[in-house]
Amino acid sequence: MTEVSLIGLGAMGSALASALLDAGRSTTVWNRSPEKAEPAAARGAQVAPDARSAVASSPVSIVCVDNYAISEAILADTGPALAGRILIQLTSDTGTAAAELAEWAAAQGARYLDGVILAYPSDMGTAGATILAAGDADAWAEAEPVLRDLAGASAYVGANVRVPSMLSAAAIAPLLGLVLGAAQGAVMCEAEGFPVAEYAEMLRPLSGLLNDQLQHTLATIAENRFDDPEAALKTYASSVADRTAESRSRGVNAEFYGFVDDVLDRAIGRGLGDQELSALIELWR
Ligand code: NAP
Repeated sequence: MTEVSLIGLGAMGSALASALLDAGRSTTVWNRSPEKAEPAAARGAQVAPDARSAVASSPVSIVCVDNYAISEAILADTGPALAGRILIQLTSDTGTAAAELAEWAAAQGARYLDGVILAYPSDMGTAGATILAAGDADAWAEAEPVLRDLAGASAYVGANVRVPSMLSAAAIAPLLGLVLGAAQGAVMCEAEGFPVAEYAEMLRPLSGLLNDQLQHTLATIAENRFDDPEAALKTYASSVADRTAESRSRGVNAEFYGFVDDVLDRAIGRGLGDQELSALIELWR
């Protein structure tokens, strides 16, 4: 018997195996392509001949493959071996897929945790890496030390297994807005012959302000408190409309600004012009 079994040794699974071995955990591994198990085997991991043997070798099994359809095909052969054990799914997929797998795991008599990894393979095993897990609270209590060996900042986010994949998408949304906004700013700089590197330097001191804005936005939404803005939504809207019109008239792509212009225009139409910018969430609720 070993402490943990790991199914899937791709880029992420191999990093998980390394982190478990670094932490001194006795580990069993299985991967469809057996050669990928060789580095873990050289470090003392047991290599199972199939996924069912891997599951039978440890009280906790972790799966990390491409998607849930693949993991379900792999786990279908392990069913009876899962009874009384903990199954942790660290493959990325949808909340619906997580809920279906949780139901299937419960039917096998396994306790289930669904997790998302908010880190790159090279981060695994570090204090700052995060795995967000949901599902069986007792399973979390037992498996927490293992998950913290994999990612030191791991956290339990409740019983609802649909939540981790949602949080993964919710975490990346502000980053996507930032990147698309930066690309919009850069294309405007280029059109004006202003060096993008200087634009980047100009923004560097604003990182604290960006975080303040993020926290303020989410605080106003959490408290549903939009009626005391320092700058009203209509003020932003006017500036965005000016920039969008100017960019378009000069042939500069203003796709991102155009999207924001449309949203703010509709928000004003709903009577939100004198509110916080974050009041636009009323359009999406
Ligand atoms: P990867 O390097 O492409 O590895 C894919 C894994 O799935 C391999 O173990 C592969 O086995 C296995 N697999 C694929 N098709 C299979 C099949 N039909 N039957 C059995 N096994 C099969 O991908 P990865 O980067 O490790 O990602 C794995 C999961 O981690 C994904 O859900 C991903 O979203 C998530 N994740 C990755 C990162 C990252 O930065 N890489 C970050 C966060 C989360 P073979 O070796 O035999 O092909």
